[in-house]
Amino acid sequence: MAKKKTTAKSQAPRSKRSTPARHKFIYFFGAGKAEGDRTMRDLLGGKGANLAEMTNASLPVPPGFTISTDACRAYFDQGRKVPAAIDQEMLAQLKRLEAASKASFGSSSNPLLVSVRSGAKFSMPGMMDTILNLGLNDVTVEALKARTSNGRFAYDSYRRFIQMFGNVVLEIPKEEFEHELAAVKRERGVKEDPELNETALRDVVDRFKRVVRSKAGRDFPQEPLDQLRLSRDAVFRSWQNPRAKEYRRIYEIPDHIGTAVNVQMMVFGNTGDRSGTGVGFTRNPATGAKEFYGEFLINAQGEDVVAGIRTPRPIRELETVMPHAYKQLRQITTRLEKHYRDIQDFEFTIQEDELFMLQTRSGKRTGYAAVMIATDLVAEKLVAPKDAVMMVEPEALSQLLSPIFDPAEWKRLPVATKGLPASPGAASGQVVFTADHAVEWTRQGKSVMLVRKETVPDDIHGMFVAQGILTATGGMTSHAAVVGRQMGKPSVVGAGSLEINEHAKTVRVGGATLKEGEWLSFDGLTGEVKVGQVATKPSEIIQVVNGQMKAEKSDIFKRFNQLLTWADKVRRLGIRANADQPDQAEIAYGFGARGIGLCRTEHMFFGEGRIPIVQRMILADNEKDRRAALAELLPLQRGDFYGVFKAMHGSPVTIRTIDPPLHEFLPKREDLMVDLARMDAKGETGPSVEQKKRLLHRVEQLHEFNPMLGHRGVRLGITYPEITEMQTRAILEAACKLTKEGLKVVPEIMIPLVGDVRELKDQKAVVTRVAEEVMKEQKVRVKYLVGTMIEVPRGAVTADEVAREADFFSFGTNDLTQLTYGFSRDDIGKFLGAYQDRRILAKDPFASLDIEGVGQLVEMGTRKGRQTKPDLKVGVCGEHGGDPSSIHFFDKVGFDYVSCSPYRVPVARLAAAQAALKQKALD
Ligand code: ADP
Ligand code: MG
Ligand code: MG
Repeated sequence: MAKKKTTAKSQAPRSKRSTPARHKFIYFFGAGKAEGDRTMRDLLGGKGANLAEMTNASLPVPPGFTISTDACRAYFDQGRKVPAAIDQEMLAQLKRLEAASKASFGSSSNPLLVSVRSGAKFSMPGMMDTILNLGLNDVTVEALKARTSNGRFAYDSYRRFIQMFGNVVLEIPKEEFEHELAAVKRERGVKEDPELNETALRDVVDRFKRVVRSKAGRDFPQEPLDQLRLSRDAVFRSWQNPRAKEYRRIYEIPDHIGTAVNVQMMVFGNTGDRSGTGVGFTRNPATGAKEFYGEFLINAQGEDVVAGIRTPRPIRELETVMPHAYKQLRQITTRLEKHYRDIQDFEFTIQEDELFMLQTRSGKRTGYAAVMIATDLVAEKLVAPKDAVMMVEPEALSQLLSPIFDPAEWKRLPVATKGLPASPGAASGQVVFTADHAVEWTRQGKSVMLVRKETVPDDIHGMFVAQGILTATGGMTSHAAVVGRQMGKPSVVGAGSLEINEHAKTVRVGGATLKEGEWLSFDGLTGEVKVGQVATKPSEIIQVVNGQMKAEKSDIFKRFNQLLTWADKVRRLGIRANADQPDQAEIAYGFGARGIGLCRTEHMFFGEGRIPIVQRMILADNEKDRRAALAELLPLQRGDFYGVFKAMHGSPVTIRTIDPPLHEFLPKREDLMVDLARMDAKGETGPSVEQKKRLLHRVEQLHEFNPMLGHRGVRLGITYPEITEMQTRAILEAACKLTKEGLKVVPEIMIPLVGDVRELKDQKAVVTRVAEEVMKEQKVRVKYLVGTMIEVPRGAVTADEVAREADFFSFGTNDLTQLTYGFSRDDIGKFLGAYQDRRILAKDPFASLDIEGVGQLVEMGTRKGRQTKPDLKVGVCGEHGGDPSSIHFFDKVGFDYVSCSPYRVPVARLAAAQAALKQKALD
């Protein structure tokens, strides 16, 4: 799909030229020669460019001409009017079409009939309008009847035209016509349209004309040229209809590019049993299998196949019905696939046994099919490996990693509600409302679905065991979403219609009230939530990476791996993962990450049995007690680091010193107060009450008005240097141990939230001192780096200064976005929707980097940093490190690597390869 930047400003297509007179606006195709070709999609739209290309390849394409997107922009520039010069040009091209088709507009012996078809650069199936049989009127319909000796066909075509014209051009609701058609059928006692005879259809035509007169206040235009002009303008206008606009918003297609209009001689699939129409694919677009795929109808026109009025037949059957046309169709479509070197999605019509091609384009496909087709095309030597790398949308790979529902089972249940599709995958489990219950129930062998208003860091153990995470609030970068993706755990967040009652342990969803233990399912790819149980299993690729399945046994894994190996050959960017634990690091390595870009040490503090020690450290009111608690944490952290280093097999590991405000490690103030009140009511006294009181006191002390801008990051290290000391010691001791065991380790110690070089200098001194101590004690030397996160705008602006003290920079684009925009990433959900509706923001800036704003800081920070240190290592560890369009930007800026959650690593590898190939094409 199109990945173009949308700008909020350009609402209507606009042309850059103010004097369009000398310019060519219309391109002819016909009689084996076209003025355009496939490279001219900007101007001719996809449909027009491919009609031209097929014409040049001598395929049977009805002749016609394409009115370019330039004309569309001119139309909007002139206040929704086609300039006279373009209209003149159209008359000239119409003359050529009359010559090529040996028919003429309005002729009472051999009338030219045309279709008027929209077609933008990017295909927008069904979004805009098409008009067929244009040129028919009271005179030409009789001529058509005479030429074909088929009055039924002539009047059926005429009534279809009036209906489409009335609907598209005159904006009369379809029902007005359907109503009349139904009335005629009723009167004549027939069920199906094809049963209506000529007399009945003449009646329909008369009634349709009356509908036009009464609803549009004008007669149905008889003059073909009027019909053409009005239809052309209506197609231009349809560019701005609400559903086309919505489609462009979803797929990020720019508003200003406009549509082309194709005017093409009609061929008829509705002349009788030797005629028909159909659509198809050269391969199966769902599975990628190399099989001819499609549907057709005998004695039908255009939209009938997709309209669902009649049930179309599988395309294979065409072989028996019309063997000659079928054989020709196979030959042509095989040729088209070879020519375009990609799966083709085509439309055709057969008129009296003669085949005509009406459209071809690259077929849309699922992620699974994309990988199958790309690898097949290389095996068939149709494309080179680097072309295959360009053929698969990086994002599509995540579909291959998600657990799967049995599609038939899934369809059986109705949708109860919808949330944001935060992390793909199918999840089904028994509802639990707390992380502790999730763990407890899982121990009993149950599958659970963790349902929370929102998740918090100490829910992590529950999130880890749950089949899926479902929250009522929060956006695509909320805690649940970020952690869900990092774990590769299906997650749907911000399902606003969920009413969770944590006390009663119930959730209301889609009219049902579920108690704890009842089944809920959702699809993390679509955000759809259903009540009930649906069976799932991990995808094959995950099974291979986990070691549950042998790689040789999985065809799709081999292909996935092959594609990514090709990608690795062309990419410049290194790929790392954000991982806090050895098992995550292992998975990341399995997916191809060569390094950890962010190991968050605080996540280790939430591990089993650690929280009490951490709380003791926080509660300590003197350095001695704090050091005592830290000494208990030391061996635990050392163990963590040892495991992570080992899982990375000698690739670099960036470890961030403690970052979050300390209150995150303490219970909530309200909860403590409730507990104390309860204890008081029971008349309890003693040490446990005292402990709770101290906790409450400390929680109140630590309260901050703006914790995200408060006492966190480097500020903690500066006020409590003993924390930095303990963490440095744990890192270096683990590194020394592995070095002695003969394994390579490259620790990179990263200080977060630095805005002033002096902050970094302060902490670097602590790190270096302790590192030297440890290495002396251990009698071994380890190469380590000290660097910083660039996530405070001041850090980026003064990057030349900061670089003096830093061995590396890692852009923390989550905080950098938060601090640059002043949007709290935990609260953006409240207004993001409105911002997107009003086109103030095209995308969520926490999911896809704001290149215009935040990107400038990133670019400046990199440039200034390297002014001071030309070989400064630069990377990114924010969520953006796994976003394809952001990765393109990071490649351009010259980063050394991107780091993302383990399950995004394949996406990042592919996106980095595509960035490199695109860059190469530009050079
Ligand atoms: P969409 O983009 O919605 O598919 P098209 O412009 O492709 O719209 O038109 C829809 C259908 O109308 C085509 O698939 C084809 O069957 C029919 N059609 C369009 N132009 C012609 C034509 N010149 N002759 C016969 N059928 C046509
Ligand atoms: Mg079409
Ligand atoms: Mg940060």
